[in-house]
Amino acid sequence: MVVLPVDNGFAASEDALDRAIDEDTALVLLSHVMYKSSYMYDMERITEIAHNRDAMILWDLSHSAGVVPMTCHDTGVDLAVGSTYKYLNGGPGAPAFLYVRDDLQSRLANPISGWFGHRRQFYFDTEFEPASGIDRYLTGTPSVLSLAMIEPGVDLALEAGTGPVRAKSLDQSEYLVSLWESGLKPLGFTLNSPRNGAQRGSHISFGHNEGYRIDQAIREEKKVITDFRMPDNIRLGIAPLYTTYEELHAAVHALSEVVASGSFQHYSDVIKGVT
Ligand SMILES: *Cc1c(COP(=O)(O)O)cnc(C)c1O
Repeated sequence: MVVLPVDNGFAASEDALDRAIDEDTALVLLSHVMYKSSYMYDMERITEIAHNRDAMILWDLSHSAGVVPMTCHDTGVDLAVGSTYKYLNGGPGAPAFLYVRDDLQSRLANPISGWFGHRRQFYFDTEFEPASGIDRYLTGTPSVLSLAMIEPGVDLALEAGTGPVRAKSLDQSEYLVSLWESGLKPLGFTLNSPRNGAQRGSHISFGHNEGYRIDQAIREEKKVITDFRMPDNIRLGIAPLYTTYEELHAAVHALSEVVASGSFQHYSDVIKGVT
């Protein structure tokens, strides 16, 4: 297994991938949108590079499903996985999803086999015989309450349509970047996401060497919940179905206030648990 380093500040660059994928590569695994920097790969280009060298590709769509238009089928993607609790509104603990290209479904084996993936689920056979098609990738009894909750979440995303959602996401992220430029950059915040909207998903990361204390201060004092990631990364997620421009403005205002007033200094810099 070869793990490519982050080499353009945001992700492993497409040029580095181009150099690394060769005839010996079996599988290329990438996040479509990088969870930390929000960098978005050119899915068509990288899929084509992989296929030209006889490699399969598996995209992790956790940060793009529901907010970036894409089609695994038309792009010829082999495999994809993702979570539904980000832009598909499932809430924490919502089920993950798997995509397997039509003609691969009955050729690949599920390494985590379980009775839901059995050809005759209710026969209780002692031998495992996988179902044909996508059903073989099921394992055990799914979390039914979570599945029930995801349905209206996906319906809402479908009703809005990924095109309009992406358009609003781009507009809102541009707005957020412009607020950074005028209000946050002078206070020592860096932009840890690509400047070019076409290379971004739907969140923006700001860096600040006091990021952890700032994150606590805006939560306690301003009721603004961001997401801190080591060592200095504050993520702001834009979910266009319900995030308002006013909220983005308020979040930036909160960030600038706790820094300008110095109130973040009242918080501990000892890192603990999930933020
Ligand atoms: C959110 C996320 C996950 C977690 O998904 P679960 O549904 O909680 O398993 C995995 N990979 C990436 C890249 C993510 O962003």
